[in-house]
Amino acid sequence: MESNNILLLFDQFIDQYPNDESCLKHLFYEKWEKGFHCIRCNRKKYCGGVKKYDRRCTACGYVQSPTANTLFHKVKFSLQKAFYIVYSVASQPYGIHSTDLSKSLQLRQKTVWHFIQKVKLAMEPFLHADKLNGAVEINLYPITVKNYKDQRKPSLEKKTILMAMEKKEGKINRIQGIYTDKIDKSTLTNFIQHYIDDDAVFSMDLIYQNHTKSDFSYEYIVEDEIENYFPSHADDLTPAINHWLRNIPGKNKILQKYLFEYCYRYNHHRSIEDPFQILLKRMMQRDSTIQDQFSP
Ligand SMILES: [Zn+2]
Repeated sequence: MESNNILLLFDQFIDQYPNDESCLKHLFYEKWEKGFHCIRCNRKKYCGGVKKYDRRCTACGYVQSPTANTLFHKVKFSLQKAFYIVYSVASQPYGIHSTDLSKSLQLRQKTVWHFIQKVKLAMEPFLHADKLNGAVEINLYPITVKNYKDQRKPSLEKKTILMAMEKKEGKINRIQGIYTDKIDKSTLTNFIQHYIDDDAVFSMDLIYQNHTKSDFSYEYIVEDEIENYFPSHADDLTPAINHWLRNIPGKNKILQKYLFEYCYRYNHHRSIEDPFQILLKRMMQRDSTIQDQFSP
């Protein structure tokens, strides 16, 4: 997908984050720019900790580092390298290979791979702002993935994704999608609850037209209709999604991760904000202890 993002050039990245301290300082301001609250007792008064950028709650004595409760928590290598991995994932519209990065950063491939997975967690929809709003259309999309049951000869398998599209001025503005084996009432209900804002007006052709979440009655969903429903205008996104997922082994969890990433990149590629800064912020906002909101 084409991008018109304003992204830092590599030289600018190094100028801005020349060492670990500059990265920690960035996280420090990002975390507490709107004030401090203790994650243990929720009080707001603090003093400095032993380490330069730590804060210590004066009520309960709990010490928080800028990385606590974020996806940077307990990173076992240099913070500057971690920032660089986030930068690389954000700047490459089709993602990045851990092997390439591991060479340039002199880290083990597995270490880099694990950290990239964390960056991808930050791409999953977990903020209220990630919910689609306004006019939303829900569709089912057919996709084809490779099944690697027979390692020598992967077979092609047809699967379905449930996709919601936020429309703006007649065009698709943002999307959210889940991969699922079975489209039934509870899948659909969960999907709507998680990914569509309460005020959105959504439609599902053949099933329901123009309903808000509060007046949408799930009782009336006819499951046969959902299962057999493929819209004629699914063509807009299907080739792109198929292309993105073409080499992904057809396991549900893996497919879902890639689908989240696809939706994230689709939703942000027109943004005029620096994609690296957006992703850094999400790394800070996403609590590392929270499990996937919607596990397929
Ligand atoms: Zn406290």
